[in-house]
Amino acid sequence: MKGIPASGGIAIGKAFVYSKDPLRVSPETIAPEDVPAQQAALDAAVEKSREQLLAIKSRAGEALPEKEAAIFEAHLMFLDDPEYTGIAREKIGMELVPAAFAVKAVTDGFVEEFRAIEDEYFRERAADIADVGERIVRNIQGAAEADLSLIEAGSVVIARDLAPSDTAQLDRTKVAGFVTEVGGKTSHTAIMARSLEIPAVLGLTGATREIRAGETVIVDGDEGTVITAPDEAEIEAYAKKKKAYEAEREELRLLTGAPSVTADGHRVRLFANIGLPADAEHAEKNGAEGIGLYRTEFLFMDTDAMPDEDSQFIAYRRVLEAMRGRPVVIRTLDIGGDKELPYLKMEQEENPFLGVRALRLCLKEPALFKTQLRAILRAGAHGDARIMFPMVSGVDEVRQAKAVLMDCKRELAGEGAAFDPEIKVGIMVEIPSAALTAEAIAKEVDFFSIGTNDLCQYTLAVDRMNAGVGYLYDHFHPAVLRLIKLVIDAAREAGVHAGMCGEMAGDEKAAALLLGLGLEEFSMGAASLLRVKRAVRGTDLSKARRLADEALRLESAGAVRALLEAAGGTGSRG
Ligand code: PEP
Ligand code: MG
Repeated sequence: MKGIPASGGIAIGKAFVYSKDPLRVSPETIAPEDVPAQQAALDAAVEKSREQLLAIKSRAGEALPEKEAAIFEAHLMFLDDPEYTGIAREKIGMELVPAAFAVKAVTDGFVEEFRAIEDEYFRERAADIADVGERIVRNIQGAAEADLSLIEAGSVVIARDLAPSDTAQLDRTKVAGFVTEVGGKTSHTAIMARSLEIPAVLGLTGATREIRAGETVIVDGDEGTVITAPDEAEIEAYAKKKKAYEAEREELRLLTGAPSVTADGHRVRLFANIGLPADAEHAEKNGAEGIGLYRTEFLFMDTDAMPDEDSQFIAYRRVLEAMRGRPVVIRTLDIGGDKELPYLKMEQEENPFLGVRALRLCLKEPALFKTQLRAILRAGAHGDARIMFPMVSGVDEVRQAKAVLMDCKRELAGEGAAFDPEIKVGIMVEIPSAALTAEAIAKEVDFFSIGTNDLCQYTLAVDRMNAGVGYLYDHFHPAVLRLIKLVIDAAREAGVHAGMCGEMAGDEKAAALLLGLGLEEFSMGAASLLRVKRAVRGTDLSKARRLADEALRLESAGAVRALLEAAGGTGSRG
């Protein structure tokens, strides 16, 4: 099967088919003689749930933070509570309903009761009991696995889609590879997979139907192929390819401490993109000189309530401390498009990528925006934090956002709080209108960061999530290159920094071209850092400038690719 190659490397493992589709519970009544069988099904499912939870808990002992381990403890407690499973058991006999329906009804009752209590603790318990109920129902029905924590070592996760919060919660030591039905190269699943260095093939329609749980699959994240039920020869061939890939990775490790300078001595800054505070350590290990993009939305997507100012502050401070004084660009909330917050009521939109997304949403919801800005400002007292606004379409939005920032500074000063009053402010240039008016915007900011993922999407009118038009999505399109050039030139003219944090910055084949266009700061998933460093070190800047001039005059992405290939010497792999 052929999908989109989204994260490099080879995986050979057992399929773990994952589905979060809502459970369907039938309210049909049962015959009185079926009561014992349904009660037995309930007992068996409770027992199975107990085994699963104990297994998770014993593994959790070492791997999970204390808080999460405590959650499973709470789940076990509910399972043993006769008030809960006992009532469900009785309900089957008294109301003549199937086991799954009885469990769901009793669970919903408890959840409602707990939610009504004005206390954080009980509201959290409501989520726990809902989870336990769902686990029992799934076990009664034998439904596809809905719990990623049940994954066994060496698994290839097969899913329709993986929310960033799913990928983040996975025990990556157990995941050999990812296969999903939706998502493109720059979808957030792809970005996460690369940052975890796990091979991934996305956009494989029908994968969850066609791949059976437990069967052996091979994932080739470079080619975008997935092979089911491979024969001996295929396994052997791919095992060999896997070894070669790992050997190259080892070789790249030797570059970790080496400076990022071009062959003719020009210094380039290589930063990392992160999605979770824990990624900062990974970035450090790969020699990142700073964080060029911290996608804060994962912090908001991972919970069922809006994180408050203090919990955001703690997360941001953790990243700043991990980076020990080096710059950390914290991007304000980029929600909308393909990312939703379950607890934030958002209007259904016909075209969410053109709708109330990112900064537009923040300007509409000033309380949410201010909470985040205050947390970043306060974290700024603990390191070199910088603020970056996403999805800017023109200078007015920047002025509005800065006015809100100014309010936050005033408030914090009034409260006597510690914060960074001189915090640097920049924007993502990811909408063509912002690129085309970059000189006006440059007067308002300290830096630009070019977001090629969206810049391509909006310039080429190609939905970055839509596998059907994936063949048109290409950051080497001369239209994209010309916009990048405009931004870099406007920044230089105004004396502000211009970096790039879209996936193009992590494409080793693009490195020489981008250097030639004048880019001096590249920010990318940590897994790409060493490859790009190798490409930078192999590039001669004066030659790269000529290459860029030529590329800008070409007529198509294909022509640019051909030019780069002919120029060679970028150290690029196939
Ligand atoms: C981009 O659009 O290039 C970018 C870096 O932001 P995101 O991928 O989070 O939209
Ligand atoms: Mg973007």
